[in-house]
Amino acid sequence: MNLPKLAIAALGGTVSMQARNAGEGVIPTVSGETLLASVPELTTLARVTVETLGLLPSASLDFEFLLSVLSWAKYQVEQGAIGVVITQGTDTLEETAIFFDYLWNHDEPLVLTGAMRSAAQVGADGPANLLDACRVALTENSRQRGVQVVMNGQTHPACSVRKTDSLALQAFTSPVFGPTGMLVEGTVRYLRRPAPRMLLPLPHQTTQKIALLEASLSADTLLLENILKLGYDGLVIAGFGAGHVSESWAEAIEKIAEKIPVIIATRTGSGSTAQSSYGFIGSEMDLIRKGASMAGFLCPRKARILLWMLVGCQRQNELERYLKEDIKSGK
Ligand code: GLU
Repeated sequence: MNLPKLAIAALGGTVSMQARNAGEGVIPTVSGETLLASVPELTTLARVTVETLGLLPSASLDFEFLLSVLSWAKYQVEQGAIGVVITQGTDTLEETAIFFDYLWNHDEPLVLTGAMRSAAQVGADGPANLLDACRVALTENSRQRGVQVVMNGQTHPACSVRKTDSLALQAFTSPVFGPTGMLVEGTVRYLRRPAPRMLLPLPHQTTQKIALLEASLSADTLLLENILKLGYDGLVIAGFGAGHVSESWAEAIEKIAEKIPVIIATRTGSGSTAQSSYGFIGSEMDLIRKGASMAGFLCPRKARILLWMLVGCQRQNELERYLKEDIKSGK
């Protein structure tokens, strides 16, 4: 039988973790080949190429490494893969997903997955998530959906997915928007049509530094006052509520926004920033007047990735346009 070609890469994370000795904590040691062996059913669905590109906890993935993973994934599609699956740690999955999504200019699905329980734990979810991710990647209906995260029987688009629980099996949600699909009896059932995506060219520089600071009650301005001196190329603030900061932060932000792009997102974990509701010092209207841009529905971490990409391809003057297109939900 002429089975379709599917490419899988393992980067590490809990899905690849085991303890070397009893009583020790788990660390990434399990290769892609071994992961594949945990889902024998896959060999009846596809001709699978598997590579172990890294064995890292996802906190230690970096942008240069992700760019090399991206070029590996693109090569797989050029070689005839109808879909690509990447397994990695879940801690930064929401960031890697949007990173790849801005650069994934293929119709073929790129699907990210991981596990909340290691293979050593009872009820390990890695094999089920991997099989689901492969099923999604092999489905015709998954084309033109860009990068998706498949976890715990749900599909989420890169733009909205977030890790909203530290340890629960149901750790991934898309606040406000909800999942785009569900795995039902081994088949992905999409709840919405694919939404238009914002694509970016490959960044031609990778040394730019974008700071991310969270507003908190009665916070000092020491870090803010030093952002420019430290050589940052952009700043994202996880602001209070609909995108607000204190008066002292607003004053510091005004000086920073004269020199580098500043994005204000919400630290609440859900919902959009405002544009024209509040007028006090430190409100969204005040911060816009002072030169900052509002993130809309983009969470602070995803806004930081967008700014890193834009600065990397010298398109920071198009920031407002990209933020206006923050998240499209699909019909
Ligand atoms: N809970 C994380 C995971 O699912 C731990 C480590 C990591 O993100 O790599 O993989």
